[in-house]
Amino acid sequence: MLVSGKDLLDVANANNFAVPAFNVSDYAMMNGLFEISEEKQSPLLIAIHPDELSHLGTDVLPAIIARANRSSVPVTIHLDHGASYEQVLLAIQSGFTSVMIDGSMLPFDENIAITKKVVDTAHAVGVSVEGELGTIGKTDNEAEDGAASIIYTEPDEAVTFVESTGVDSLAIAIGTSHGIYPASMKPELKLELLKRIKAKVNIPLVLHGGSNNPDNEIGESVKLGVNKINISSDIKASYHNKMREVLADAGVREPNTIQPPSIAAMKVTAAQKIDLFNAAGKAKLY
Ligand SMILES: [Zn+2]
Repeated sequence: MLVSGKDLLDVANANNFAVPAFNVSDYAMMNGLFEISEEKQSPLLIAIHPDELSHLGTDVLPAIIARANRSSVPVTIHLDHGASYEQVLLAIQSGFTSVMIDGSMLPFDENIAITKKVVDTAHAVGVSVEGELGTIGKTDNEAEDGAASIIYTEPDEAVTFVESTGVDSLAIAIGTSHGIYPASMKPELKLELLKRIKAKVNIPLVLHGGSNNPDNEIGESVKLGVNKINISSDIKASYHNKMREVLADAGVREPNTIQPPSIAAMKVTAAQKIDLFNAAGKAKLY
């Protein structure tokens, strides 16, 4: 069934697990993510970034919505990193049930103003909103945008931001980056800061840039109250690494020869994330 972001994440917040938000910009990957979520009985958040949406086209949305409606697990279709009011409107018009407005690079007051404007519009039609406070880093050129250096989320500012905007969930900066970390860089999450934010903010918390962080840190962040973790690079790497292997045979040509082993490899990674986030079997809570 298709549900709003609030309905999906409030249950995670009440039951201490995180819903995986898998970025999708390819139809075969989308089908594979539905399959593995159903096999694991895990709630699913299909995240589509504006760059991915322009690659896919909005015409695919009715198909994703139909797939979600016949799914045995709850599914939210979420706009990842909406950068403007116009992008949010396009997503709402296309049938997304959740949107992110990312004003994190703006001054605090301007971030509040654009986020509140999006909340007022989205809530009027039953769509949930994720805001972001603090900045997430960026580690490689293929990654989504991020800041050159991380600005950590300040707990008291987070309280003011949530109260002033009415957002349904909040992406926080505690040390993650978009992309895959280079060998020279050791990611380290500030779990003490997460605890302080969670003690003050009641709505579900979101972690971006969750690919390629040590499993023990991610597992700990779930225990401490993160309720949605964005995974993009890790599933795409598994998918395309396998595809490179398959394509080493110059004789293969058919997508239905090339894609199934790539999807199978992606599903192994997705299943590992579902387990790490304590989301397996949680569909029964809805
Ligand atoms: Zn992100």
